[in-house]
Amino acid sequence: MEQADGAAAGGKARDQAELEGKVAVVTGASSGIGRATALELARCGARVAICARRTDRLDALAAEIGGAGGLAHAGYLDVTQREQCASFMAGVVEKWGGIDILVNNAGLMPLSFFKNLKVDEWDRMVDVNIKGVLYCTAAVIGHMAEKGSGHIVNVSSVAGRIVFPSGSVYCATKHAVTALSEGLRQEFSARAGIRVTSIEPGAVDTELSSTITDESLSGFVDSIKKAGVLAAEDIARTVRFAVASPAHVNVNEILVRPVSQER
Ligand code: NDP
Repeated sequence: MEQADGAAAGGKARDQAELEGKVAVVTGASSGIGRATALELARCGARVAICARRTDRLDALAAEIGGAGGLAHAGYLDVTQREQCASFMAGVVEKWGGIDILVNNAGLMPLSFFKNLKVDEWDRMVDVNIKGVLYCTAAVIGHMAEKGSGHIVNVSSVAGRIVFPSGSVYCATKHAVTALSEGLRQEFSARAGIRVTSIEPGAVDTELSSTITDESLSGFVDSIKKAGVLAAEDIARTVRFAVASPAHVNVNEILVRPVSQER
């Protein structure tokens, strides 16, 4: 046990050495995986720029990070607004001199059966889950390419690998994120030194299911929770593993399910 504790402490120290002073932007940091990721990276010495629409939550998170000796910069960002994405990222570069890591995490999952034609919800998923990732990436990629380094982490999903009934549109958006990650890797990793990681979580206990309005799915979330879910911190540690890997290591894809999840 002592040996295991020692190994964990050594791993944390190594990760701190890689991340100390780095600038990481985390979108959708007001709850769930984004919040946990911001805390995890700040604990390793990264300066974290946290953004979302619920600024009261961001302010509380920034205070928590600051109280623990970390550095956080919080700001309103609706990732569906291209200009806001550009100006938030430019503000971070101005404040801290650059951006080393972008975690494209903001997303929503209003699952519904296609026949119910919840077209407004489809629009929102396309806008946040796909276009939000594109806009935020567009706002940093030139800067990263110019300095010859950077890391884009896209929070896709197991739904970026498989498809299930009621998830056709959500899965389509996450398949798009998985495809985009691979395209970015091909265009920017070898040529511009930018690492790209697609994180593909299975079921995680967060607020994500709160956007589901399809009544026929009312028991769905409870049954998943009952079967067993990951904690947001489990995914935060996965992000940390990818971004704290040595500079020559490009961790491209990580799929993480709870042990109890079959598909
Ligand atoms: P949460 O609902 O807890 O977090 C979603 C975050 O996205 C919130 O911080 C929310 O902030 C933000 N967000 C939503 N819309 C926008 C917007 N227009 N602009 C900016 N931010 C926005 O869920 P999770 O933590 O679970 O979700 C994070 C990511 O993980 C998502 O991409 C999700 O698809 C993915 N994922 C989650 C899984 C799970 O089981 N929980 C499984 C696989 C993937 P605010 O409302 O304040 O703007």
